Amino acid sequence: MAFLNENYLKLQAGYLFPEIGRRVRQFCEENPEAAKRLIRCGIGDVTEPLPRAAIDAMKAAVEELGDRATFRGYGPEQGYEFLREKIAQHDYRDRGIDVADDEIFVSDGSKCDCGYILDILGAQNRVAITDPVYPVYVDTNVMAGHTGTARANGGYEGIVYLPCTAENNFVPEPPQAHVDLVYLCFPNNPTGAVATREQLSGWVEYARAHDALLLFDAAYEAYISEAEIPHSIFEVPGAEECAVEFRSFSKTGGFTGVRCGFTVMRKQTLGKTEEGKKLPLHPLWHRRWSTKANSVSYPVQRGAEALYSTEGGAQVSRLVEHYMQNARILSEGARAGGLAVYGGRNAPYIWVKTPENLGSWQMFDRMLRELNVVVTPGSGFGSKGEGYFRISAFNSRENAEEVARRLATLS
Ligand SMILES: *Cc1c(COP(=O)(O)O)cnc(C)c1O
Repeated sequence: MAFLNENYLKLQAGYLFPEIGRRVRQFCEENPEAAKRLIRCGIGDVTEPLPRAAIDAMKAAVEELGDRATFRGYGPEQGYEFLREKIAQHDYRDRGIDVADDEIFVSDGSKCDCGYILDILGAQNRVAITDPVYPVYVDTNVMAGHTGTARANGGYEGIVYLPCTAENNFVPEPPQAHVDLVYLCFPNNPTGAVATREQLSGWVEYARAHDALLLFDAAYEAYISEAEIPHSIFEVPGAEECAVEFRSFSKTGGFTGVRCGFTVMRKQTLGKTEEGKKLPLHPLWHRRWSTKANSVSYPVQRGAEALYSTEGGAQVSRLVEHYMQNARILSEGARAGGLAVYGGRNAPYIWVKTPENLGSWQMFDRMLRELNVVVTPGSGFGSKGEGYFRISAFNSRENAEEVARRLATLS
């Protein structure tokens, strides 16, 4: 019998979304009338259909594959040049950031990339992760054996947690202690917070002083509405030596089901050997893709490329604007209901303080029973999420307006 990876046994049972599902099912069985009014604002998945430009490009690409003259088999493992060039040009060079085409690595999404990146990083790294947080950063480190066992509060031994609270506007300062690897996500899921240029500069300064690596998740950069907020960590000088950026077409082009994202791995970004020799990470990342993957399907890469066309770009902007208008409507509803509201200005998530010091799950139950609205309990994202809940703006306009009306009745 083969030995199994015992790190998986350390993982807390996938508690959050199964538990939400269980409570919602039970409520609906016991209250069939209320069940008909139920609106889900829980899981962070998009609801609106794909942009027309992407649909047409993917259809045309499938037709190409159906003709001997235009058929393509395996593509480049790091993604097709036509897509890498569009990304590097539109998302970076047009914004004054000197990213080369071959510093873009096309993937099947940034959830996946967040896990894959650990392939090229050492097991001895001291890892810092924000709390509350997108659970993928924590769990992939547990699976890779970078942590000890789980504690009673859901955290793991060995991880340095960076509390994100109302006091620090949900943006942590760099720690006093030394860490090697830091996960940052701005605009943030779940809090909707954004980091200013000064705050990101502070992190780059820390990373350079400590020879640390920043793993910067920018999945929501398209939702930034305030002009002075950076969209990329590479807007901060020096970040090219100490940061990797993750981006995705999931929340921009509605590609959560289509699957496409990318990492930006600069050639100047360094890691070190046990002996202290500094080496670039780019060749390792390149080798990782060549060996373990064959990138993403040709039609999907053509679909992603189409998001950079004039009409594709306009369609993406309309999608983002749709969700952000929902976020404004939901924020106003929650405020009218007497709740303290964070986020929702540069991100499709609203982070809400529970009233009367209710626990996250108590508030979840109250929202379910009284308003027939499903939210996500903040404690599911980490111990510092206790006392909060997340409302997702990924919904139809009709649902967002109805949820806002119901929220306003809370006061
Ligand atoms: C949705 C999301 C992503 C994107 O994941 P994909 O795998 O590209 O769909 C990445 N990071 C965060 C924090 C997210 O919420």
